[in-house]
Amino acid sequence: MDNDKKIFSNFARFLILVTMIKENLEKIRATLPKSVTLVAVSKTKPVSDLQEAYDAGQRIFGENHALEMRDKHEVLPQDIQWHFIGHLQTNKIKYIIPFVTLIHSIDTANLLEAVNKEAKKHDRVVDCLLQFHIAQEQTKFGLDLEEARQLLDSETFKAMENIRICGVMGMATFTDDEIEVRKEFKHLKAIFDTLKKDYFADQPQFKEISMGMSDDYPIAVEEGATFVRVGSKIFGARNYNK
Ligand SMILES: *Cc1c(COP(=O)(O)O)cnc(C)c1O
Repeated sequence: MDNDKKIFSNFARFLILVTMIKENLEKIRATLPKSVTLVAVSKTKPVSDLQEAYDAGQRIFGENHALEMRDKHEVLPQDIQWHFIGHLQTNKIKYIIPFVTLIHSIDTANLLEAVNKEAKKHDRVVDCLLQFHIAQEQTKFGLDLEEARQLLDSETFKAMENIRICGVMGMATFTDDEIEVRKEFKHLKAIFDTLKKDYFADQPQFKEISMGMSDDYPIAVEEGATFVRVGSKIFGARNYNK
């Protein structure tokens, strides 16, 4: 392509994206009950896409890399709530603790302890969800109920003053099999109910169930999600080879 054409096609793509992000957001919001909060998953997407979503009223964004989230936080409006949704390495915690609103992905007792320690340095109480392994795939991170009980029963946990557990998170198997996906979401809801009863009955902040992505969020909503994490249905497919 010669240069003029290239500039034009980039511009056309930009215009299409601008209207699409807003439209996509409006379409998705229209299907969500009031009890469900939309986390716009903006990982790998440029700041300009997030700004478009912001201008369309979106205030909650989900990222899965600590440094990418920090960099975006620095340049975007300060009233954005940043949700961390990916696997968090302990040596990266420090980049997000000053500003993160909710960490969805606590998958080990060690990680929770490290978050607590870093939050203490910043004199913050950081809201967290426990991530559970509900999918058939081996690769997805997360606790099982027994591990969560061990964590919640431990003296180390009871001494943590700078984190607050607000609920659970999970990712279903990547499959077209709706019955399987629904079964996994029901499983996460059952884990939530068990933990609520056994550990958090008198703690109103323990109320969140984060489940459902672009391809399965309608099922997750039917099964009791309070947060859905939607990326490509808002921003378009991600390109990891750039
Ligand atoms: C990427 C990601 C999402 C969003 O995925 P889409 O299929 O693009 O909606 C949701 N949750 C987690 C944990 C993710 O890593």
